[in-house]
Amino acid sequence: MIDSKDIEFQSIKEIETFQNNRLQDALRYLSLHSPFYQRMFREHGVDVEKILTVEDLVKLPFTEKRDLQLHNEDFLCVPKERVIDYITTSGTLGDPVTFGCTDRDLERLAYNEMKSFSCAGLRPGNIVQLMTTIDKRFMAGLAYFLGIRKLGASIIRVGNGMPELQWDTINRIKPDTLMCVPSFILRLIEYAEQNGIDYRNSSIRRIIGIGEGLRNQDFSLNLLGQRIREKWDVDLFATYSSTEMGATFSECPYGCGGHVHPELIIVEIIGEDNLPVSDGEIGEVVVTTLGVEGMPLLRFRTGDMSSKVVEQCECGRNSYRLTPIVGRKNNMIKLKGTTIYPPAINDVLDNAPYVVNYVVVVQNSFAGTDEVIVKVGVAGNPAIDVIKDLKDRFRSRIRVAPIVEVLSPEDVNIINNPSNNRKPIKFIDNRKKQ
Ligand SMILES: [Zn+2]
Repeated sequence: MIDSKDIEFQSIKEIETFQNNRLQDALRYLSLHSPFYQRMFREHGVDVEKILTVEDLVKLPFTEKRDLQLHNEDFLCVPKERVIDYITTSGTLGDPVTFGCTDRDLERLAYNEMKSFSCAGLRPGNIVQLMTTIDKRFMAGLAYFLGIRKLGASIIRVGNGMPELQWDTINRIKPDTLMCVPSFILRLIEYAEQNGIDYRNSSIRRIIGIGEGLRNQDFSLNLLGQRIREKWDVDLFATYSSTEMGATFSECPYGCGGHVHPELIIVEIIGEDNLPVSDGEIGEVVVTTLGVEGMPLLRFRTGDMSSKVVEQCECGRNSYRLTPIVGRKNNMIKLKGTTIYPPAINDVLDNAPYVVNYVVVVQNSFAGTDEVIVKVGVAGNPAIDVIKDLKDRFRSRIRVAPIVEVLSPEDVNIINNPSNNRKPIKFIDNRKKQ
């Protein structure tokens, strides 16, 4: 089902021209309505009428997460009465950052998710079981609901956790799609196996993952993706999104990167020298939002590391794609000379059957290099040597092995879930910042 008017299927040249025009609109809007960007343009002597193309963006400063935190209210481009929905994201300095969405922003989010879900093959008639929270000041769950509604498909809002309620819902309403954090699928399978649920013959045909990757840089399934697929013959789709971007990069059925929706966001991939890298090279994802009314962002540094794929996709879309996120820039670890990111460590731990839970701690060694300690919760007395087995698994996946400590699942759980935290903590960075 190709919509000939959909910008994603037009030529690369047409997409570029389209994005350049939308960029000019966005810059004009910021210069008229954003106190933060008005000040930035003034201080840096920027004439927005001279920024005509995506390539011209290098002439403008970046926006950091820190800016959002220090000048939160200055980013809001509308009077407060126009804000319909308030959302928060975690900031780098401790306090959360507040985002305000106007009515038009919610409509834009709905459009974004409608496009993402249809990219993953969803149509009216499909039933999606939403296994994420829809409240707690998050944007995602609400956006999914709005997008599926706009698409005309059906939705069941079950929320996260609760394997019993998830299976009851699957058996009762017969959804074909699960929307969830992929590692939870392993728990769902385990619950089904323990309770005699014939999950392989259930109504589920498709799983759309959020928050965790399912593929490696060459688009083959990562360990988590493989482990799900070994057990369950379902189609897997990965997505990448964030509140700041207000956009989702979603895989099509060919599973070779998250497609950008050119009407919603511009992506630059920025190297260590703060300049764009060549297509295909890994760098930091820097985004400029398009069409946002409440809190639009210009050259926002996401901190996520990825690369751009510009060749046409087999699905016919010419919009560029992003490879799976390798990790967060700040979380980059140099372990014994090898560069690694926490998701690769998590992928090993998520797939060791005896690991109940875990936390990864990185700190400075006596030599001043990075030292990684993996604390794993293991129940009972496993028959194998856990430390040796885990180190072998690490060496085969990331070529180096961190220090492994075995704890009880209860002790790890206490570290994972301190009070007042919305998301479990799996990574602790105790390194001294330069
Ligand atoms: Zn595609």
